[in-house]
Amino acid sequence: MHCQNCNKTLKGRTDKRFCDGHCRSTYHNARYARSDRHRNHINRILNRNRKILSAYYYSGIQPTEALLQGEGFSFKYFTHLENVEHCQDLVRFCYDFGYFQTEMLTVKIFKYGLLNNPQNRLTNHFVN
Ligand SMILES: [Zn+2]
Repeated sequence: MHCQNCNKTLKGRTDKRFCDGHCRSTYHNARYARSDRHRNHINRILNRNRKILSAYYYSGIQPTEALLQGEGFSFKYFTHLENVEHCQDLVRFCYDFGYFQTEMLTVKIFKYGLLNNPQNRLTNHFVN
């Protein structure tokens, strides 16, 4: 067996994973730092998505998917799915802004808690 931190051969108990406490804490700190980086990376993407959705929501423009992607929007990342009245499929949300992709390749954006707001109403075209 080798130390998981420094790779030195371990002596003694067969279930030992580290030479000593120093190697143990170095290994775990590095692991947590990596997981923080990954989480921060995802949080940045989600926050950017939310910011882009918010800007389009308030502008009243229904953007195309390509336009959103051009601004750095990532369709891969969202926080949760919700049922929205008149929508057949679950709507994807980035925190308080929801969206769904229409068959016209545009993106309809909702603000959570304002689903009955006229700005959120679906045009007849999108009601099934
Ligand atoms: Zn070690």
